[in-house]
Amino acid sequence: MSATLARSAAGLGMASERTRLRMVARLREQGITDEVVLAAMAQVPRHLFVEEALASRAYEDTALPIGFAQTISQPWVVARSCELARAGRMLDLVLEIGGGCGYQAAVLARLAREVYTIERIGALAARARQTLAAAGIGNVKVRNADGRDASSNVVQFDAIVVAAASATIPPNLPSLLADGGRLVIPLGGAEHQRLTRLTRHGEQFERETFDDVVFVPLKSGQE
Ligand code: SAH
Repeated sequence: MSATLARSAAGLGMASERTRLRMVARLREQGITDEVVLAAMAQVPRHLFVEEALASRAYEDTALPIGFAQTISQPWVVARSCELARAGRMLDLVLEIGGGCGYQAAVLARLAREVYTIERIGALAARARQTLAAAGIGNVKVRNADGRDASSNVVQFDAIVVAAASATIPPNLPSLLADGGRLVIPLGGAEHQRLTRLTRHGEQFERETFDDVVFVPLKSGQE
């Protein structure tokens, strides 16, 4: 890189840091209180996860297209889902369903020891892998599969975050929670959903509903 290019890249980095801090201030005003989530969002370079043409809009509180008729979730939705999933605790293993561009996985990676994210569209999964590597995030594993089919006899998760809307909780998922673990999912119809949290207490599951949200649908199969 030439000296001029290096200087302008550094300048961009500083400008995006300032915009990111403004985004975090806005999240606070919008009611996000978990300082660990806010600190994570202050650090993850969201502009790397959107297409270059949209990078200048990366820190607006809006969903943006990422191709294949999918979107990067708006910052508030990411913050709120992470806050509900964390419930004030540090996380060991986390599963995300609907990895998209990898942004939320990058935020979760700062809240957990290890993150597994499943994305049904192969091209998005490949791009997420590249972007996460470029951002220097090493504790996220991206899989191309239908996340509703996720199953395991051995691994249990402290948190599962579903980033696509569903009418019902996919039946495989609750048993993947560790005792005390939390599943956060937007439940409802196509127009809007309610962020819902399922907390495992032994073989019992406590259900709570929170904010009105709009997500793209959870679909079956993989592409
Ligand atoms: N977490 C992303 C949001 C992506 S939007 C972010 O950080 O912005 C939701 C994503 O879920 C889309 O990329 C879509 O392809 C994916 N998806 C939908 N149904 C799925 C399924 N059954 N399994 C895995 N991914 C799915």
